[in-house]
This record gives sequence, C-alpha cells and structure tokens, in this order.
Amino acid sequence: MQHLCTCGAPLLARYDLERAARTFSRTTLAARDSGLWRYTELLPLRELRNRVTFGEQPTPIVHLQRTGLQIGVQSLFLKDESTLPTASFKARGAAAGVSRARELGVRAFAMPTNGNAGAAWSAYAARAGIAAHIVMPRAAPPINRLECTASGAHLTLCEGTIADAGRIVAGEIAAHRWYDASTLKEPYRIEGKKTIAFEFVEQMHWRLPDVIVYPTGGGVGLIGIHKALLELRAIGLIEGPLPRYVAVQSAGCAPIVEAFKQGKRESSAWPDANTVAFGINVPKALGDFLVLEALAATQGTAIAVSDEQLLETQRRIFSTEGIFVCPEGGATLAAAIDLFAQGWIQKDETVLLINTGSGLKYPEAV
Ligand SMILES: *Cc1c(COP(=O)(O)O)cnc(C)c1O
Repeated sequence: MQHLCTCGAPLLARYDLERAARTFSRTTLAARDSGLWRYTELLPLRELRNRVTFGEQPTPIVHLQRTGLQIGVQSLFLKDESTLPTASFKARGAAAGVSRARELGVRAFAMPTNGNAGAAWSAYAARAGIAAHIVMPRAAPPINRLECTASGAHLTLCEGTIADAGRIVAGEIAAHRWYDASTLKEPYRIEGKKTIAFEFVEQMHWRLPDVIVYPTGGGVGLIGIHKALLELRAIGLIEGPLPRYVAVQSAGCAPIVEAFKQGKRESSAWPDANTVAFGINVPKALGDFLVLEALAATQGTAIAVSDEQLLETQRRIFSTEGIFVCPEGGATLAAAIDLFAQGWIQKDETVLLINTGSGLKYPEAV
C-alpha cells in the first residue's frame, strides 16, 4: 500500500483513459443507475462489489434566482451537497476512500479531521466493519464528535488545529501500523470527491459554468474538480476553456489566498488560524500547490471573506432561498458578491457555488 511519493508529495490516481473512453460516454451514462458509482471507469475500485455505499444520490443544483437578481448575476446556481449521507460533501471522499481501503484489506485506519470528514469516514467504516481512529480538535462542532463516537469510531480530542491532530495521527500510525487516511496521504479520497464535477457537468447538460466558487480548506474538492474536468476533456466529453475556479477562505485562516496574492507556488502555515467556518480552518494544506496550480491553469482567483460576511450570507441564502447552508457554503456567496463588485465576475456569467454541507450541523453559528 502506497501513501505518498518518496518525495513526500501526494499521489494521484491515473486511469487508462483510452480504454475508459470506449465505455464512458454520454449515452452509456444516461442508461446507468444514479449515484457516484456510475462513474466506475474513473474510480479506483477493481471490483465494484467491494464498494461501501449508502446509495448516495446526485445532489441538486438549485437556481438562486432571487439572490442572483439582488446581486446582479442572473445565472447563479448552488450545488447543495448537504443531501449526502452524514450531511456533507465529505461523504464522497469517504465513499471512495473506505471502499478502496476495504478492497485493499485494511482492518483499521487513522485520520485527523476538522469534523465532517471524521463523521463521514466513521459512518462508512461502521458499514464496512473497519476500525476508525479519529483525531479532532476540541473546538470542532460538537455534533461531529457524537457522529464519530456513536458510530463506533475511536475518537481522540486534541488542542489546537487539524495540524496538531495530524501530528498525533502520524505518531499513532507509526506505533500501530494503521492505514493512514489523512487528507491526500492516500490517493482515493480525492477520487470520490471529484465525482461532484462529473455530476454537475451531466446535470448542466455537458456545458460548463464560467465560474466555480469553492470553500477551500485542504483543497481536495477543488483539486478533485480540476482532475475530473481534465479527465472528461481527455476522454473528449467536454471541450473549450475550463471554468475559472475561486478558492474562498475565511480571513481568519487564509493561507492559500495569501500565497496566491504573493504569486507563490506553496502556502506558509497560517498562525493562530481561527474561523467559525470550521471545515476550512486548515493552516497548511498538503495539496496547497495543487490548488494554486489549478487556479493558475484556469485564470482563477483566491479570496478571503470575514466571518461576519460569511455568517451574513449564510443567513441570506436561508432567508431568500430557503436553503440552510453551512457557514462554508455561506462564504461562497460572500465571495461571489465581492468578485462581482470588483468586476471579476460579469453579470451574464454562469456561477456555480458549492455548498459543502448542512447548516444543521452548526446550530451555534446562527
Ligand atoms: C472539509 C470541508 C470543506 C473544505 O473541503 P476541502 O476539500 O478540504 O478544501 C468545506 N466545507 C465543509 C463543510 C467541510 O467539511
């Protein structure tokens, strides 16, 4: 089992795209069951029967018509990932990651988390009969702790941030030889996360949005979206320019925004990281350089919004559209408003916001 390159960088799965192109087409897809395993040629399982699944369904794309009119962007859409198992986008990563771990014969894994990933991996591990060892900052949303312990995972709370949790996990893995399921330290979580892009491209009838706004913590979602779109392009299912990606972070933890501004290829650890949008409280991401590469490749950008702003837009989406997004999802609208004001987003462009989870998980935020 290989986790990282010998140089310490993440490994990315590669597929025989020529072979995949023979069976992965608009028409064959149209005839398949819904759910993320429909993209099987571009997913890492050797045998589909090894999958661990709750019957994940495609998440809706909702037209934010009234909000769009208010802010001046007509084609404003939200992909609402809160309908996935465990109510966050992390289910995609866990579905692929735990399935592949089971296929590889893993009996126990360990991972650091800001909360939602731990919750999702615990649930999938319970279903797979694999032991989950989760390390989480004490400040993470209380519901995330309960989700882990009640589904039978072994939970350790730590002081500090996910970076401190990561150090504890590294020690545990060295001591017990558990499978390392840390973000980007195994190549399969990102494969699950990338299915969000296959899905929205299909839902948008194979047309791409102009702009995608993603609340960026470890950045796996964005790296996954980029990887998926490159694979679709290589297979010949999409053409033309890719959407411009926007990585949005909280002003309380914005290492990627800072690196982007300074034109750096990597970020520096953000001191005293702190934001109510806990899922994006990542002071230094292992895949930061991949996020920055994806932004550069698409003429994208990175932007920070304050906690006040993102809480305000979270409430605004709920009161205007009826969707209770998570604070991280709120941040995407705050970013879109700022970028429109700056003239970076034009009024006739199609903008896709990604809501990564349910607001129900953070009742203390509203
Ligand atoms: C994990 C998480 C994010 C950030 O996702 P990355 O792919 O790690 O950047 C955003 N929002 C929520 C709710 C999350 O749980």
